[in-house]
Amino acid sequence: MVYQLLQHYAGLSRTQLYACPEQKLPHDLMEKIEAAIDDLLTNKPLQYITGEAEFCGLPFMVNGSVLIPRPETEELVRLAVQALRTLQRPNTPLRVLDLCTGSGCIAVSVAAQLPAVSVAACDVSEEALEVAQRNAQRHHARVDFFPCDILRQPEAPAAHLAPASVQAIVSNPPYVRRSEQSLMQPNVLRYEPHLALFVDDDDPLVFYRAIASLARQYLAPNGFVLVEINEALADATARVFRSAGYPDTAVKEDLNGKNRFVATNCIF
Ligand code: GLN
Repeated sequence: MVYQLLQHYAGLSRTQLYACPEQKLPHDLMEKIEAAIDDLLTNKPLQYITGEAEFCGLPFMVNGSVLIPRPETEELVRLAVQALRTLQRPNTPLRVLDLCTGSGCIAVSVAAQLPAVSVAACDVSEEALEVAQRNAQRHHARVDFFPCDILRQPEAPAAHLAPASVQAIVSNPPYVRRSEQSLMQPNVLRYEPHLALFVDDDDPLVFYRAIASLARQYLAPNGFVLVEINEALADATARVFRSAGYPDTAVKEDLNGKNRFVATNCIF
């Protein structure tokens, strides 16, 4: 990690360091790097110290208002892009809606990989939307960001999307039950936004019900929903979508063999 700090603050690659191990760094830079090492020792994630995380091969700005993007979510992007490619037809633009976008990593990556697709994305947190906006600008991705608490403002997307107009609804909503905190790493618990992580134990699928209900309104007939899920609640999450009128809903494992995604419309 110290190499990554040196790379970030001094712009020195590992090779350059090995080539000139005796070189001195300016005093102010040394102070920054020492402060960063102190931060690391308090379990602060490296990505929050440098303000940057890599996702789908692109650098994303992150801060304490957004989760650090996870490798599982890269898999979600890959699955979404794959399924969207099969829906692409000349002269019929596709639309994607990303709910609970956070840093915007899903929305921006989809837009970057499929420039012809038009992407809308929302989040309850204004601070997160600012980060997402900056990530979109940085990667020249055109994403229509808007504020929306999907649990309390189901009408908000109407100003941005026509009914039945969207080919993909994607989301990585909060899904960790509060009782699962004891299983989590101190760096996550202490530094990542609880708003983006946790749901109450007595209603852990509340976001998926809201997503399914938005799908009823905005999903085009050939469209699909693809969501990241709590591995312990896979069947119950799939049932939410089946009982909302999506019988072809399936669960898929992530690369670690954990039930991690639910999708409608047989996209797996
Ligand atoms: N996968 C994340 C974690 O392990 C949780 C992401 C979420 O709640 N959407 O902390």
